[in-house]
Amino acid sequence: MKIYIRGLDDHRFQRPLELLAQLFFEDCNVSLDEIEDADLEIQFHLDEPKKAVSGELGKDIQSTTTYVEGKDEKESFKFKKKAVNFVFLTLLQDHTKIEQKWGILTGIRPTKLLHTKLKNGMTKEMAHNELRNDYLIHEEKIQLMQSIVDRQLKVIPDLYNLENEVSIYIGIPYCPTKCAYCTFPAYAIQGKQGAVDSFLYGLHYEMEKVGEFLKERGINITTIYYGGGTPTSITAEEMDLLYAKMHESFPNMKNVREITVEAGRPDTITPEKLDVLNKWNIDRISINPQSYIQETLKAIGRHHTVDETITKFHLAREMGMNNINMDLIIGLPGEGLKEFQYTLDETKELMPESLTVHTLSFKRASEMTQNKQKYKVADREEVQQMMNEATVWTEKHNYHPYYLYRQKNILGNLENIGYAVDGQESLYNILIMEEEQTIIGLGCGASSKFVHPGTRQITRFANAKDPKSYNDGYEHYTNAKIKILDELFSKK
Ligand code: SF4
Repeated sequence: MKIYIRGLDDHRFQRPLELLAQLFFEDCNVSLDEIEDADLEIQFHLDEPKKAVSGELGKDIQSTTTYVEGKDEKESFKFKKKAVNFVFLTLLQDHTKIEQKWGILTGIRPTKLLHTKLKNGMTKEMAHNELRNDYLIHEEKIQLMQSIVDRQLKVIPDLYNLENEVSIYIGIPYCPTKCAYCTFPAYAIQGKQGAVDSFLYGLHYEMEKVGEFLKERGINITTIYYGGGTPTSITAEEMDLLYAKMHESFPNMKNVREITVEAGRPDTITPEKLDVLNKWNIDRISINPQSYIQETLKAIGRHHTVDETITKFHLAREMGMNNINMDLIIGLPGEGLKEFQYTLDETKELMPESLTVHTLSFKRASEMTQNKQKYKVADREEVQQMMNEATVWTEKHNYHPYYLYRQKNILGNLENIGYAVDGQESLYNILIMEEEQTIIGLGCGASSKFVHPGTRQITRFANAKDPKSYNDGYEHYTNAKIKILDELFSKK
């Protein structure tokens, strides 16, 4: 699908319009320059003196809105862009008869937008009116955002005042095998012991140096999260040494509010590793079924069985793990409402403390996207029905939504939602989504997000994604992060 936009010269409009168009059409390009083979043409009119934007799609579909002047050119353009997006969305909704429940929002953190409005002193009513009228967000999504924001503030009452602490993300880039939908840094671990040893050496180094800096500056850690890959792919002994290093290097470990270790792939879980997790008081683990249909797991290359998920869940329970998260994915290849309902029924047998319900997204680099024709997925309507089913099911079983994020190319323009029973929400997941404090990423594929304690400006820094580059450059990554941290925490 090619869309030609007349009447907009500023190319800063192009990318946001393209993101919106992609909510309606697969493989869609938007051009502000004339193209001959356009499938759709949209005429825009910008009336600068009146601060009005209007648009036409064919003879019958029109839309108009206005915007206000900002305090400088940057802000004025932001308001104008929002008005252009508003007109574009309403024209496409009218043309396709598809309603976008997230309105013109294409970003990944809708709840951050609501937090910001409330923090700036708006009442809930004023904030909701803006979301409804300026962003065209549907009421059900506004209510979802509000209930998540309320829960986050209940779970972390000092959420808006954690800027002088940090959280730590530790990336372990290995998995038993690589899943077809995966774009995480995940390398099959078999036969790579040499590389794993070097990787862990570099990771220990990063922990030690960053820990030293935090101790010197008296900076406390709020949460620690081990992700990847699958952090339980390494041996029990390696895990033991790693957590010992964490306790030795990081400041005031007794003040850390939560430590999570993703044990995502059930095929990596052993009694020895659970012993190690217990020994170091890991608060929370994830065991991820994704689906309870064996053929689906095979189709997406997860190479473990449904039985194994169930057995390892029970083993973890018996060995004292009392905060277990499970990830499910809506819309996996070959699955519809019936299969998802079955997965929910199976979940009921286990009742983990939290449940993260993802909607499948076709990430550009995944094997699944590159061979899309091989994978048959449910249509928009059925995906929506499955999401509705998840909402009803979680409500019925006393799970509350507590964080939410969206992704590009996600089926049905839906979202990923984390649910938890009362008091078992993951604090790290809230902190990473709402960007209220610095998250320092250590290890392979780990991104750091530095939030300036005063201005809240965000700076990002990424460690290498592949173990070889990480092993060659871990000292550089460590020094670069400490330099940013040094500037950040001295400029308060
Ligand atoms: S287990 Fe998770 S991180 Fe590993 S390959 Fe599969 S999706 Fe990727």
